[in-house]
Amino acid sequence: MKTGFYNGYIYDPDDDTFHSSLIIENNSIISIDNDLKLKECENIINLKKRMLLPSFIDTHLHLDEIGIYLNSLNLKNISSVNELKQKLKNYRKIHTGHIFGFGWDDEKLGMWPSYKDIDGNDDVYILLARNDLHSGLINKKLEEDAKLNSEKGIVKEREFERAREFLIKNYDYNTVRKYLMDSMDYLLSFGITTAGYMSCYGKWCEILKDMDSKGILKMRIFSYLNFDEIIKRDSLYVGEYYREYGLKVYADGSLGSRTAFLTFGYSDDPGNKGIRIIDNKDMFLDVCNKFDCDLAVHAIGDGAMDIILEMSKYYKKFRIEHASVVRDDQIKRMKNLRISVQPGFILTDFWIDKRIGENNIRLAYRIKDLAENNMISFSSDAPVEIPDPLRNIYASIFRGFKEKLPISKTYQNISLRDALRFHISNGAKFFNIKAGKLEEGYFADMVILNKNIFENENEILNLRVENVYFDGFSLNSNH
Ligand SMILES: [Zn+2]
Repeated sequence: MKTGFYNGYIYDPDDDTFHSSLIIENNSIISIDNDLKLKECENIINLKKRMLLPSFIDTHLHLDEIGIYLNSLNLKNISSVNELKQKLKNYRKIHTGHIFGFGWDDEKLGMWPSYKDIDGNDDVYILLARNDLHSGLINKKLEEDAKLNSEKGIVKEREFERAREFLIKNYDYNTVRKYLMDSMDYLLSFGITTAGYMSCYGKWCEILKDMDSKGILKMRIFSYLNFDEIIKRDSLYVGEYYREYGLKVYADGSLGSRTAFLTFGYSDDPGNKGIRIIDNKDMFLDVCNKFDCDLAVHAIGDGAMDIILEMSKYYKKFRIEHASVVRDDQIKRMKNLRISVQPGFILTDFWIDKRIGENNIRLAYRIKDLAENNMISFSSDAPVEIPDPLRNIYASIFRGFKEKLPISKTYQNISLRDALRFHISNGAKFFNIKAGKLEEGYFADMVILNKNIFENENEILNLRVENVYFDGFSLNSNH
């Protein structure tokens, strides 16, 4: 069946052009600007001045964590430890079994919570993850049974990972499948139909393969496996909508947890420079060479960037994740790299001037500088940030100006046109797929917004996703 669209703002961000009409058949775009052909369509859609774009692509998120987060205790908006205790207490009235919570921020709480804020005589495990997913609060039972080392209940980085894995390893097939489905529905509601799934391992990979072979996936997923996972493999899976696409490793931690590796140290924690994690460089390169797959390296601090810029010389399919703090000399050296950045961090890290120092704030989230000689794509790192492309776009063009954030004075604002290109067309280029562009032969992956996004940049956050097409199918998203 042919479906035609007309009378709207049909926009291709890849070449920055508007089109008068578009026709899709099966899963592809078959005709553009051929208004006379609309007559041949069995289904004609009058867009009534709404906007049609290729759908959004989020190149770095955590599909498993999104599902877990959607099904867990939500601590995103709490502003005191008392509130945390209260939320936990209420949650325990309705929830039996182990407790996973997510989203607290010590900056908002005014302090780091500890055991005493959550411990009772517990026979269940409790893990309350900080909003950056680099640290968390655990109870004593989890600490003892999982043989973890905490600081009054706080676990960071590797210890945090071990706590998480300990809780998750007992999820059964149906739980994992439900979480993946919830995650996909959530992303589709924001107009995202392709995602880079970071740090995939174990059951999550197995069940995605199974879902792909049964034809029940609702979006294109490109996963980046953990090192422990990829070394077990003889081959990487390539299916219709699910593909194992690379290896994901870390070079440092996060600014929120003060574990990102900064050469100049933390302004609000003198003597601390964060941590460097990467130590198996040669093994990473060997395994990626074997599979000829992407190597995605997480680097937030400039110290981590020093390490991975050296590494990037030895491998072509290299990706940099975050690049949050980058020095001038590094910007000069960075050419033709793929970099996935998260504009949402600009709004969330309202404390960044305190943490890295006022003099260094100009080194943070320099999207404009990075985009000059490299291929930038936008992502959310969800559930760390809400996977809302409109919020990302808003953050990248206003840079906290309306929120009066100190970082707004760093003048790394980009244009709306570029922001759309980074969230749509460049994402498709990261995964080498025929998407992110309105052209014959490209996938009919599209999003319809209630208004033309260019009409008023101040209204971006009020726009609505009215419908999403994935592989030619209308999903009638009501977000
Ligand atoms: Zn991430």
